[in-house]
Amino acid sequence: MMHKILLIAAVSLSLSQAVKAQNAKPADTELWTPVPAEITPGKTPSDAPSDATILFDGKNLDQWVSVKDPKAPAGWTVSGDIITVNKSAGNIQTKQSFGNYQLHLEWKIPENIKEEGQAKGNSGLFLASTGPGDDGYELQILDSYKNKTYVNGQAASIYKQTPPLVNANKKPGEWQTYDVIWKAPVFNTDGSLKSPAYVTVLHNGILVQNHTELKGPTQYIGQASYKKPHGPSPIKLQSHGDPSAPISFRNIWIREMK
Ligand code: MG
Repeated sequence: MMHKILLIAAVSLSLSQAVKAQNAKPADTELWTPVPAEITPGKTPSDAPSDATILFDGKNLDQWVSVKDPKAPAGWTVSGDIITVNKSAGNIQTKQSFGNYQLHLEWKIPENIKEEGQAKGNSGLFLASTGPGDDGYELQILDSYKNKTYVNGQAASIYKQTPPLVNANKKPGEWQTYDVIWKAPVFNTDGSLKSPAYVTVLHNGILVQNHTELKGPTQYIGQASYKKPHGPSPIKLQSHGDPSAPISFRNIWIREMK
């Protein structure tokens, strides 16, 4: 008896679904709200759209501070719309902290660079700076145009974790772009990890990190892991101690995401 009732219920349900499907209209699946905000794109994909926060527009480093002394100015050189690393001033980071974001940054290796491996134009974009020095999640910047090194240490690698999908480097002396989509890690109230960080990176417009899961902040020696919970964090640029001529940056902007 019970089976019969269930069977009748199932048949009438599938019948009503079929009737519903027959009566369905294209408009049933149209969404009209919320309406996406109107923004003005830049002239090229490298130019900041109207809703971006400009982190460097060629004029000054007002959005940045020294990592050694967050009360001190960044101390890198600004000339002709370009920032050049001042190695003696050390790393710099944004005054503002960020959670999830889209970021655009351009970098250039000096044309006549001579060194090799990790000493050839080493810098880095720390996607979230979680402390002093090199603490944080490093997207490597290096001259990787015909310059051999460990693959999870070449340009566009998540340093000591994930190599880029391809080597999209341009020659030293040419400007290169990074476009980054960063999903910050989320922690539970007890400090344990709720969800890891993910990053997608385009290098010179080429997909090199595709929703890559990060194992934790960059670890120079040993395996990375999420040891300390953190919230929104500054973005940091690395002044690496290698002997090569300093690299340059320009046109840095960010769009915060939910
Ligand atoms: Mg580096």
